Amino acid sequence: MISEEKSKKGAGSVLPEIIPSLSTTDENEIKIRKEALSRIEDAVKRCRRCILFEQRTKTVFHDGHPCARVCFVGEGPGAEEDATGIPFVGKAGKLLTKIINAMGLSRENVYIINTVKCRPPGNRTPTRQEMETCKPYLEKQIEIVKPHVIVALGLPAAQSLIGNIPSISKNRGKWMEYRGIPVMLTYHPAYLLRNPDAKRFVWEDMKIVHDFLMNKKDGAKISEQNIPQPGSNLSLLKT
Ligand code: SF4
Repeated sequence: MISEEKSKKGAGSVLPEIIPSLSTTDENEIKIRKEALSRIEDAVKRCRRCILFEQRTKTVFHDGHPCARVCFVGEGPGAEEDATGIPFVGKAGKLLTKIINAMGLSRENVYIINTVKCRPPGNRTPTRQEMETCKPYLEKQIEIVKPHVIVALGLPAAQSLIGNIPSISKNRGKWMEYRGIPVMLTYHPAYLLRNPDAKRFVWEDMKIVHDFLMNKKDGAKISEQNIPQPGSNLSLLKT
């Protein structure tokens, strides 16, 4: 249970980590999952299954915790991700970290992946075929981590997971499903950088995710007053 002192940290500061963010803290289980992910990562590093391998500097496999309850799925690596091998480290990545923190989570305790592991040239959207070719890796990652919730960042991520979804505006804010795991579609942070007004929609969507995790959590009951309300932490999402 969070301490009263922690719960008094209010609006305007990052919320304390009020959601239990890991499905398990069992050291043995963490080790098993890390090793399983590492084997997939090795295969990705050698992968030449689609043309995206040709121009990559590094493959971009994942970031975060192997026992995270929340998995964020983005589109594909950009220039900074290609250079570092870490997803969401550019400007959009910094905004994603703010969103994660505003939900009361830490980047270290969520799981972050992309639909394709190699950078599409010029930061173009990966093709459906490229996403399909890379999908077995995505499926394996989710199978190993077993998140309680997936957040699809942008339409390509949702299409890769679920199939034909015509638009974000008509499908965001409501639950969809991938192999029994609830999926919330919302706008990609890169879109928010170009369209800051859409941040309020993302915050609404993340509040639904937050509430789901709160209700599904095991253990200590946390008071309603600690649940972020829509708009209460929009200042945290300033770019
Ligand atoms: S994007 Fe995926 S399928 Fe294509 S080369 Fe990279 S790892 Fe392989």
